[in-house]
Amino acid sequence: MKRILVTGGAGFVGSHLCERLLNEGNEVICLDNYFTGSKKNIEHLMDNHYFELVRHDVTNPYMVEVDEIYNLACPASPVHYQYNPIKTIKTSVMGAINMLGLAKRVGAKILQASTSEVYGDPAVHPQPESYWGNVNPIGLRSCYDEGKRCAETLFMDYHMQNDVNIKIVRIFNTYGPRMNPQDGRVVSNFIVQALRGEAITVFGDGTQTRSFQYVDDLVEGMIRMMNSRDGFWGPVNIGNPGEFTMLELAQEIIKLTNSSSKITFLPLPQDDPLQRQPVIDLAKKELNDWDPKIPLHEGLVKTIDYFKSVI
Ligand code: NAD
Ligand code: UDP
Repeated sequence: MKRILVTGGAGFVGSHLCERLLNEGNEVICLDNYFTGSKKNIEHLMDNHYFELVRHDVTNPYMVEVDEIYNLACPASPVHYQYNPIKTIKTSVMGAINMLGLAKRVGAKILQASTSEVYGDPAVHPQPESYWGNVNPIGLRSCYDEGKRCAETLFMDYHMQNDVNIKIVRIFNTYGPRMNPQDGRVVSNFIVQALRGEAITVFGDGTQTRSFQYVDDLVEGMIRMMNSRDGFWGPVNIGNPGEFTMLELAQEIIKLTNSSSKITFLPLPQDDPLQRQPVIDLAKKELNDWDPKIPLHEGLVKTIDYFKSVI
């Protein structure tokens, strides 16, 4: 049995990760300040004696004896991370320093939840890990993008200077049950709007693309990365290469929800990336043939069922 710390464990991805790690027989400590996460996401785990919940902010140091750390604490939706940009970058940078310091002290292996946002508005398509990205350092998205880029740097530096055992995954857009209905991300927005019969808000002309991954595929990839061979630290892309325009996504959701909603077009936010698609050859090679299993259609059906039950 391993003792595992999951920061941001009460969030969308973190709650699925905690559940899976518990199911595999580990002891899990879930640390969260509930900025975007909620106790509701993990209430079904509370009866498990091997599950522990800690209210804590990763910008402050935290000490605990653990074998592994998954560092997920950080708001992920543009609406939430732009709400308090200084706090967002502090969370990424100071959170990384505090968790890496902890990993160093107790000799834990530590995985960073990085993001496809490190590629910015990519000039290379699709994006391999070797691409250094095209990020605006002073725009609305910079608090998140640059915070996550700096966190990757810190991970590498703790590895090279202090021999900390690190793993870095670059996560592409992920969706599924327990997304916050209010968090403003495109999949949750469109589903909630479609179920309520409200206008579907497509930003720009809707030709920008994203590649959407179902949360179970991500969790599988993260766990495989944590258990990957010594000497492989990434970064590695974890995403589903199926690429869709936002208009295609809107139409698919309208169809699957049998909704009467109409599409409305709103201005494209500043620095919104025009395209995004992961190259996943490295993940396949290093993570034991990891491959996303759940196509968009199937994942959307599960996610729509979830939102039907909560809104
Ligand atoms: P989320 O907002 O649902 O979860 C983030 C969690 O971190 C929340 O529970 C929040 O309360 C917690 N948190 C925020 N600031 C904190 C702080 N200072 N101290 C302690 N806890 C804090 O988002 P998510 O989609 O579950 O994302 C989880 C991680 O995965 C994030 O690091 C995000 O950047 C990364 N990621 C997610 C996606 C995606 O599409 N979901 C894509 C790329 C990267
Ligand atoms: N988007 C949209 N309507 C919405 C919310 C988002 O058209 O109601 C677009 C947004 O402009 C972006 C894409 O959907 O091009 C994905 O946005 P999201 O916030 O989910 O993630 P990110 O931009 O961080 O990839």
